[in-house]
This record gives sequence, C-alpha cells and structure tokens, in this order.
Amino acid sequence: MKELKKRVSILALMCMLVSLIVIPTSALASTVAIDQKVVLYFPNGDWGLTPVEKTISVNKKDNFYLLALQHLINPDTLPIGVYDEFPKSFNVENVNVVKETAYVTISATALNDSELSDSWLNTLGDIISYNLFYMNNEISSVEFLSLTSAKRNINKVKKNDLFSAPSLSSEQSKKVSKIDLDYRALKKMSEEERNQTIQDAINKALGDAVGTLSSNNYTVTIDPGHGGYDPGAVVNGVNEKDLNLNIALAIRDYLEGIPPEYPQFNVVMTRSGDYFVSLTERHNIANNANSDIFVSIHNNTSSNTSTRGTTARYPNNHDVTLSINLANFLINAITPNPLPKHSDAAYQDLQVLRNTTMPAALLEAGFMTNSNDLQILQTQYDDIGYYLGLAINVWCQVNI
Ligand SMILES: [Zn+2]
Repeated sequence: MKELKKRVSILALMCMLVSLIVIPTSALASTVAIDQKVVLYFPNGDWGLTPVEKTISVNKKDNFYLLALQHLINPDTLPIGVYDEFPKSFNVENVNVVKETAYVTISATALNDSELSDSWLNTLGDIISYNLFYMNNEISSVEFLSLTSAKRNINKVKKNDLFSAPSLSSEQSKKVSKIDLDYRALKKMSEEERNQTIQDAINKALGDAVGTLSSNNYTVTIDPGHGGYDPGAVVNGVNEKDLNLNIALAIRDYLEGIPPEYPQFNVVMTRSGDYFVSLTERHNIANNANSDIFVSIHNNTSSNTSTRGTTARYPNNHDVTLSINLANFLINAITPNPLPKHSDAAYQDLQVLRNTTMPAALLEAGFMTNSNDLQILQTQYDDIGYYLGLAINVWCQVNI
C-alpha cells in the first residue's frame, strides 16, 4: 500500500512538472483550481444556524469570500432541517475586505424586490455577516453596498452585536412580574371564578386597587416549530413538529375561548397544520400582524437520556428585558408540574434569524429523548398549552 502511494505521488509529481513545461505560468494561475473546504452556516428550524461543510473549487484569481457566499445563497443540496432563506432576486456581486471591514455588494434586484421586506432583507444581511465573521476572525463589521442607487440598503452589522449576550442594567431587570397563580387550580375553576382570580392577581401585580378590567385587546403570534418536510427532532418515531403543533393549538384554543367581557386575544398562527413555513415567513407573519408578542414552541433533545425539563431562549435584538421576562414566565407556567424545570431562560444568538419587532421567546417544552418527558408531551399537551395560554393572558395584561 505504501509502495503504491509512493508510485502514485511520483507519477503526480512528474505530471505536474510536465504541465509546468507545457502550459505558460500565466495560464496556469487561472486554470488550476484548488478544492478548498469551507464551513457555511445555514439557518435551521430552531432559529439558530447549523454548520455545513462544503468543498468549493477556487482559482488563484477568485475572490474566496464571494465564491463561498454564492454557495450559501444558491446551495445545491442541503441536509434536512437546514433552510435556504435567500430569494431568487438576491445575489452578492462583490466582497472586498479592507482591514476589519467587509464591504459586500448586493444585487439591485434584491434591494428593489417589493416581495422582500426590510426585516427579511436585514435577516439575510445578518446571515451573510455571521458567515463572514466565521470565515475571517479579523472581520469586525460588514457594510452593504449596491452598484445602482436603490431606495434602501441592508443595515451595517457589527460582530459585537451579533455575538454578545445582552447585559441588563439593574434598572431594566427590576421590571420582573412576580405573579402567584396556580395554573392547575385555575383550569379546574368555573369560567367566572377563573377570570376573576386572574384579574385580582393582575391588579395586585400592577398595584392597582381599583380592580377595573383592562380594555386592551392583544395580538399574539404562536409559532409551532418545524413542519412539513422538516420534522424537527425525531425520537422513537415521534416527530417534534407534531408535539409543537399540539401544544400551540391548545394555546390558541384557550386564548380564543376567553369570554368577550374580558380582554380579547387575536391569535395568529405561523402554521396550523403540518406544512413547511420558512423562518423568514414566520417572523414576517408576526411583524405584519403587528403582534404584541411572538412565542415559538419547540422541544429539545439531548445525548443524555436522563436530561429533562423545560427551558427557553430569548433573542438579543430589542425588547430584551421583556423577552427574558416572557421566556421565564412561560417556563414557570408549566413547571414543576407537569414538567420539571431544566433551567432559566438563556440567550442564544437567535437574532440572526429572529427579526421580530416585538418581545419574543422560544420555549423548549421538554426533552423528547427523556422517556418521562416524552410521555408527558404526548399525553398532556392540552394541559401544557392551556397553562401557557393562561400565562400569555396574564403576562400581556401586566406588561403590554
Ligand atoms: Zn425545534
């Protein structure tokens, strides 16, 4: 085997020498392509980015960043659960890195595409920037240019904004609503008793002794993760997308069933059946509906089957204090019963995809890889959704 390798390499060397003699060096520079591996980060159904290794063929004169980004924008094949969020009108025409700044020229067709909302466009800018920051550690900001004059452009992206967890001042973190409500007891009460108990607790939290009902109505977007050809996690034949939808529908049913004399909820679902919805469509649905909050429902997995319980994630783009508060409020609604608490809500660099314009949280209800959690998720999704609905009702009245 070693002998063969040696022979092959000698042969290869000879071929190279021959080609050096035959082909003029200037032509060689542009015709010899080197295969180069690059890790590209594609959006996934959990609002994060998944690394996918690609091999791209690079000529000496090629702009490596440009080639790599073109693979990101026009991928040939993608693994399941990884999305292509770039529309046909979108292309990168040039990338020029000067010191710590990458200048990216965007096709005018994308900037003039009326189907492409501002938030979607900036999401795409975030995805491109994220990839450039990973390709070259020295790059600290990305600026977008266009060759023709366009009405708009993508906002400049700074590495610090994309990667750093939000820090809250003590003033900001004070606004945490502590409301003692036993959701399990509430579910068993009569309609009237339940709503009166909720109202009393809300008035107490707001320090309002008058006891008048809020006349506000709210719009909330509920987002069952994954769907259609993206099943999310699959454990023992159970699809995450189905568990997510069951919980989300139960949230909707509770909120839509609140009697008309109480604050009303307009529930917008990013999907209400088993079909695929892109990540961009999801936040566009919430933004276009002028939603007061955005709640995404997911379920977790772990390589450790004893890991279990509820946790949540919040983004770092805006309304951070409210998003953290909402995320923890949702965790508390379903823990320690019927599910144990896994951990407090944590920041995740979700803002690259979550261009929501309202407080947002992503709930990971339970671990599908834990048999206790999985059984609860399969049998008690109605309760879980009901408690989450109650929590959303209370939270909106206190915080919005
Ligand atoms: Zn998920």
